[in-house]
Amino acid sequence: MGLKATARKNAIHALLVYSGGCNGCDIEVVNAVFSPRYDIEQYRILLTWNPREADVLIVTGAITWAMKEPLQRIYELIPEPKAVLAVGSCAINGCVFRNLVGDIKHNPEVFAPLEKIIPVDIKVPGCPPRPEDIIMAAVKGVPKLMAAP
Ligand code: SF4
Repeated sequence: MGLKATARKNAIHALLVYSGGCNGCDIEVVNAVFSPRYDIEQYRILLTWNPREADVLIVTGAITWAMKEPLQRIYELIPEPKAVLAVGSCAINGCVFRNLVGDIKHNPEVFAPLEKIIPVDIKVPGCPPRPEDIIMAAVKGVPKLMAAP
């Protein structure tokens, strides 16, 4: 068993990237999911801000112009295998920012859905999603990570 797989037996690290939205989903992730009340850490899923340490990428927001390339770079920095969660309707379909979706010729403000930018493993719909649903989605991504050699 490789070192990474051994480490993953003890903890999975999740990286949150806010890519443009109202911050409602970020509040659910940081202030609820990782709070003592919902306590995702009971499943040994911890928060990190370092892509090289991350196993799970949690993306919120509708992918603004400024965040498109940084988000792709962050995704590349996360070692394989990794799981990507699109958290909230903004990341899934643009939600209230949907009308701002365009293409490069029309000076787009947002690029949702996230799956056009990077591969997505699990979608968590809602505006914002419930903390329980975010936790369930993160736990669902663990088997893919544990299958690592
Ligand atoms: S999905 Fe809703 S709550 Fe989440 S960032 Fe978008 S508008 Fe805000």
